[in-house]
Amino acid sequence: MTESQTRDQIAEMGRSLFDRGLTFGSTGNISVRLDDGWLMTPTGSSLGNLDPSRIAKLDLTGKHVDGDAPTKEAFLHTTMYECRPNAGAIVHLHSTHSVAASCLHDIDPTNVLPPLTAYYVMRVGVLPLIPYFPPGDLDLARAVREMASDHHAVLLANHGPIVAGISLEDAVYATEELEETAKLFLSLQGMKTRPLNEDQVAELRRRFPTKS
Ligand code: ZN
Repeated sequence: MTESQTRDQIAEMGRSLFDRGLTFGSTGNISVRLDDGWLMTPTGSSLGNLDPSRIAKLDLTGKHVDGDAPTKEAFLHTTMYECRPNAGAIVHLHSTHSVAASCLHDIDPTNVLPPLTAYYVMRVGVLPLIPYFPPGDLDLARAVREMASDHHAVLLANHGPIVAGISLEDAVYATEELEETAKLFLSLQGMKTRPLNEDQVAELRRRFPTKS
């Protein structure tokens, strides 16, 4: 895919996420790895209305070289890429149900959501909770770095998920799977629930190892 096609794809995926209520206002950001750097959605932009030509480009050193200034959350993306050499794209949203799950009192910080469905296990798997830090706090980058080598998806407490994929499509689908599973998890609160058991989860991991 050329850089121009990738720019168009980011705008298209952004609009799709926005139109379906997975992101709102100017929240959420998307990045894609290129041979010579990264494309990243601009600061203050709405994912519903991205101009492909104004999407920020960073060179391999992380320097802004083209388009509008990148998202203020760029460091979350660059931290994930540093830890995950196979990641081709990263999506970060403030998607409602995922954020709601991140605000619950008694969740397991090593793995926030239970393995409710096979597709959740295949696309997300284990989801650690990163403790809350104010936006832009460097301790947040440090906390993400501690988890990102072992996990392609992490959930920032009281904030939202960051998900890496081998491609943009892969990262978007995994983010959507996470959001839908968070919605299921919240719908099932207070009900006796039967998630997949350890053997079923292990079998899925064996058959469908994570690539990103
Ligand atoms: Zn954010």
